[in-house]
Parts: sequence; C-alpha cells; structure tokens
Amino acid sequence: MTIFHDEIEIEDFDYDAEEEMYYYPCPCGDMFQISKEELMAGEEVATCPSCSLVVKVIYDADKFKAEAEEKQIDSKEKETVCST
Ligand SMILES: [Zn+2]
Repeated sequence: MTIFHDEIEIEDFDYDAEEEMYYYPCPCGDMFQISKEELMAGEEVATCPSCSLVVKVIYDADKFKAEAEEKQIDSKEKETVCST
C-alpha cells in the first residue's frame, strides 16, 4: 500500500511546457515530478527521484483526458487535409 507524503493540487505544481512535466518541491531538496502524459493516462502519483517519498496529485482527470482526445482529433484532421 502506498503511503502518500502529501496531497498536492496540480495547480500548485510548476509546469515545464518544454518537457511537459509537472514539478513540486520535495522536502529532501529535489522535486516530485509527474509528466503530463502520465496524468492523461490517469496516473496520480508524483515521485521524487532522490528519495522514497510520493505525493498524490489532485487534478481533474476528465480535463486531461479531454485534452488528449482533442489532440487525437487534431491529428486526424491534419491527415484529412493532407490526403485531399
Ligand atoms: Zn525527495
């Protein structure tokens, strides 16, 4: 069973748009991290690479799923444009 160090809202994470990663300061001095892709897949556990602490990410999974679906629609539309 996972014991969470804390529960953090996604709004409190720092978002790195280039890496598509969310970061939150860990008490050990490193950062908890979770990728946007993981969030879209329903993952809600951010881990710290330097210690064993984990935090639960509070976020709206539907919002991330909607965004993932939007991306798929976008790529489909592009394919259609290319083939015509
Ligand atoms: Zn840590």
